[in-house]
Amino acid sequence: MFPRRARTILHFNQIISKRCNAKISATNELKNYACALYSTGLGYVGLPRRLSKSDKKPWVTDINEVKRKARLEKKERRVVREVTLSPPENGLLVKELIPVAHEVLAARSELFTCISILADSIPIHSCSVCGEVHVGSPPHQIRTCNVSGSKNNKEHTWASGGIEHVLPIVESFHLYDRLGRAVSHNERLQVDRIPAVVELCIQAGVDILWINKPN
Ligand SMILES: [Zn+2]
Repeated sequence: MFPRRARTILHFNQIISKRCNAKISATNELKNYACALYSTGLGYVGLPRRLSKSDKKPWVTDINEVKRKARLEKKERRVVREVTLSPPENGLLVKELIPVAHEVLAARSELFTCISILADSIPIHSCSVCGEVHVGSPPHQIRTCNVSGSKNNKEHTWASGGIEHVLPIVESFHLYDRLGRAVSHNERLQVDRIPAVVELCIQAGVDILWINKPN
């Protein structure tokens, strides 16, 4: 019988030996696995050799065929074709829009008429300095008139207003030839400006002779 200390050392050596064997075995398995990546079953083969330019995989489509198609496409793009325009680009009116344009123009006239009736009964005030609008009487005294020329105390300078203050008119140039060139800078004072809504209706198909006098 070994003494207790000698038995412990022997047991420790056995454990170390087992662990070393296990580690060596695992390393060999890993090597085998790595080699198997290039194994064909009959044996190990080397990495594929580097192919020369002439040995490389051929194109799916022959390069000359690709070039030929590109040349044809380029030739096609150079051919000038007549583009058929449809209304209103071709100068004709869109038939469905003509009655709509007449409706818009009639509604605009009615709107102005009705607002005039209301403005006769309800006072409208406008600041002659900053353009602030107040509907009803008396006008407010809030000191928010903060523009060049306003009073020192920032109070508004109220004056009696009208329909033009509650329904401002947006103007645009009237195009006598809507397919022609745009109005130039030098022509800006010679070309008439009319309400933009009226111009919209004219371009949509309202005959200008139908309009007595644009508001
Ligand atoms: Zn003001």
